Amino acid sequence: MPPSVPSVLATARTFTLDGIAARPVRVEVDVHRGLPNFTIVGLPDPAVREARERVRAALVNCGFEFPLRRIVVNLAPASLRKAGPGMDLAIAAGLLSASGQLEWEGLGAVALAGELALDGSTRPVQGALAMAEAARESGAEAIVLPAENGAEAALAEGIAVIAVEALGQLPALVAGEWDPPRPEPLPLRLGPAPGAPDLADLRGQPHLRHALEVSAAGGHSLLMIGPPGAGKSLAASRLPSILPPLAPVEALEVARIASACGRLDGLPGGRPFRAPHHTISAAGLIGGGSPPRPGEATLSHRGVLFLDELCEFRRDALEALRAPLESGEVSIARAGGQRHLPCRFMLVAAANPCPCGRGETDPDCTCAPYDVQRYQGKLSGALADRIDLLAAVRQPSAAEIGGAPGEASAAVRERVSAARERQEWRLGPGRCNAEMSPAEARACPLAEEAAALLADLYARRRLSGRAHDRALRLAQTLADLAGVETIGEDQMAQALQMRRRDNG
Ligand SMILES: [Zn+2]
Repeated sequence: MPPSVPSVLATARTFTLDGIAARPVRVEVDVHRGLPNFTIVGLPDPAVREARERVRAALVNCGFEFPLRRIVVNLAPASLRKAGPGMDLAIAAGLLSASGQLEWEGLGAVALAGELALDGSTRPVQGALAMAEAARESGAEAIVLPAENGAEAALAEGIAVIAVEALGQLPALVAGEWDPPRPEPLPLRLGPAPGAPDLADLRGQPHLRHALEVSAAGGHSLLMIGPPGAGKSLAASRLPSILPPLAPVEALEVARIASACGRLDGLPGGRPFRAPHHTISAAGLIGGGSPPRPGEATLSHRGVLFLDELCEFRRDALEALRAPLESGEVSIARAGGQRHLPCRFMLVAAANPCPCGRGETDPDCTCAPYDVQRYQGKLSGALADRIDLLAAVRQPSAAEIGGAPGEASAAVRERVSAARERQEWRLGPGRCNAEMSPAEARACPLAEEAAALLADLYARRRLSGRAHDRALRLAQTLADLAGVETIGEDQMAQALQMRRRDNG
């Protein structure tokens, strides 16, 4: 302790969760003579302020003494909002050290995170993985956290992870009498879990199957239009199973998000699939609040976000999704600057062809022409310009439903993975055709006939530049699936067919 700051008796390191990032917080504990009092300053939220009661009870119930003095706990930096009960353990350790009950010389070199129960046992915190990583980045030697967070924190390499069951274990730990082994890291599954929904369940529907495969191969967003019960939801939920397995670094990103949202226990592994209800708010969809909470877009990072009944979603929620879809991250303005949450997901949406759902061409359709027009207007306003691929889905026939199961996910996934490999080789690691910039899309090698086809349509239908580039990206994916170097006439014709909206 430098002599220039004699009033600070103990400092400890901890973290507060901000979005999915762990921000370092320094806990300074000062114990003075004076009327017994316990104050926490430094922008604590109510849960942090209540640490006073939890820490007091935990100390006493673990056989320590609660100092009857004037205690001030300062959480620095003071400008950062501190949220949640995860600072209990660091405050308790600082208090034990400041009051001379624990001779912990290395306290400043160790990070602590965890909530305390009244009996002194530790309770898990959200974001333990991000905290362990932040502890490593900030140069801490070890992180001490609740036993239940041990496996998750152990995913962070390069830092010692010490999992404790109770506050009462600290004296033995500090004295070197107890040296707990590093917890086994949580197993991260890269591919779909056994028994996960399989594409074999989709019987018949060759058209829809092909659309799914192309969309998976190039990372293209997909809109399925068809009557209720045609299998749109079933198809969407099978999409993660035909995507290539996660790279280990991607699996860690997914785990970090799940850890920050306290969902790591239920993480099935593989790519996430999220299907929020259409009543969801903009904040629920893209994240919000203070400190910011990740929304569905971030929870589907590296996976699939499925918007069923696209037209029923709130206009402002869909509008809010536009920028994140393009940039792959959500930006939230908060005090102290912008917060960025990752959200590289594939968008899959489904809609009925008309308000009654049967479709105008069905003789049983009861919709007035005006209603159909209004509905389709709503549909084209709803992110339609962000959709790469359109699939018309029909009711499967009785023979199809009773027939043999379709091709299984594993076989489709192989073709998709091969196509993705070609893209990574061309565009760089982790990138796919859907992410190509306009310049990259226009640099795709194009056969003469294919170029003529696109130019003709561009002139005749007055395609927008955006639609022109989307057709190129899609055609490139079809070429990658076919394993050819140059986009041929076939692939271009098919791409234009799959983006039929542009054809008017
Ligand atoms: Zn209708």
